Amino acid sequence: MTPSTDLNIPLFERAKALIPGGVNSPVRAFKAVGGTPRFIKRAQGAYFWDANDQRFIDYIGSWGPMILGHGHPAVLEAVQKAALEGFSFGAPTEREVELAEEILGLVPSMEMIRLVSSGTEAGMSAIRLARGATGRSKFIKFEGCYHGHADSLLVKAGSGLATFGNATSAGVPPEVVQHTIVLEYNNVAQLEEAFALHGKELACVMIEPIAGNMNLVRASVPFMKRCRELCAEYGALLVLDEVMTGFRVALGSAQSVYAKAIPGFKPDITVLGKVIGGGMPLAAFGGPRAIMEHLAPLGAVYQAGTLSGNPVATACGLATLREIKKPGFFDALSARTRSLVDGLSAAAAAEGVPFSADCEGGMFGFFLLPELPQNYAQVLKTDNARFNTLFHGLLDRGVYIAPALYEAGFVSSAHTADDIDATVAAAREVFKAL
Ligand SMILES: *Cc1c(COP(=O)(O)O)cnc(C)c1O
Repeated sequence: MTPSTDLNIPLFERAKALIPGGVNSPVRAFKAVGGTPRFIKRAQGAYFWDANDQRFIDYIGSWGPMILGHGHPAVLEAVQKAALEGFSFGAPTEREVELAEEILGLVPSMEMIRLVSSGTEAGMSAIRLARGATGRSKFIKFEGCYHGHADSLLVKAGSGLATFGNATSAGVPPEVVQHTIVLEYNNVAQLEEAFALHGKELACVMIEPIAGNMNLVRASVPFMKRCRELCAEYGALLVLDEVMTGFRVALGSAQSVYAKAIPGFKPDITVLGKVIGGGMPLAAFGGPRAIMEHLAPLGAVYQAGTLSGNPVATACGLATLREIKKPGFFDALSARTRSLVDGLSAAAAAEGVPFSADCEGGMFGFFLLPELPQNYAQVLKTDNARFNTLFHGLLDRGVYIAPALYEAGFVSSAHTADDIDATVAAAREVFKAL
């Protein structure tokens, strides 16, 4: 397509004049990979179409929520019916209770849940709850994990364990991040050292169990086990941020995957988003009754939201959860995702491209590295230029993966074996030229 016929270009110009960077969330701007972002007109099943009516196989799925693909008939019907009944009331509804019952029935570590509108809000509120429930201020997070853009979470590691983190965004005063300790993911020795120094002052450890914001890096079983043990020993809460992994990697979420390897494993607080809204603004956090009862109006930890538990969003989330609960759903989704990862690995091997990949349920990640990284510093060893060549090569062939190498990918139940084959064939062509 010549620039004069690419309708995304004038749209991007219009957008840039009105919206900072032309986008309402930075990664959409294609800054990391270069080029013009595709403006999406519509989507159906595993595909979306841009301003030029070019079709793409969609592997971002709105960054995770679209686990059924776009426009699933049961979800559409539920949303249309809910919209006719009313958009928002600012008063309780039966559907919120139904959604709470549905989620709590699938994730037994939670006895109570509070619904909010975004993962950022849920993560921020979970930290406040952990601090309110323990009466402590400090907490641990890990480099490469993303928990939304709340001030105290936009932090990278300081110069040593005795020092606290540095803000990664302008506009976050040092005083606001002085209680945030940032450690290396999967580093047991550093975790133990941090607990020895600060354990009694820690409100919580917050972690993405299978990190999807540094591509895909799993917490090792020994690391997760140590997080759980140390939190219990020092009276800190373990907060699992499952905004991405919740109902995406397994019906019981990532915590059910770890519970298979660590008997009795469960977090104290779980943070959810993405899939539970099925593509609408809905997120949540929950845990045992004794912790959740610290929240207003029962307790002293304040938290609120005008659109929380929105009736159209809850209808969308409920319909989505009811589909993924059907027998065999996750087996089929996992097998499809696995076939993509195996196909890409074989194509890379055939073309002599260093490559490693991993997946769990409907979430996958791959690296132009010979071995799977274990932490953020190792992820950063990826050659950006090669990733960008791969990204644009796939995009030109109608395959849309995340426009940054730090992001996981997503397969939906709408992706067919033919879609996977077409993706692998496109990737093999691109690998040949890498
Ligand atoms: C997406 C994400 C968030 C933030 O959710 P938003 O709805 O974008 O605010 C938080 N944590 C994790 C693990 C995420 O993947």
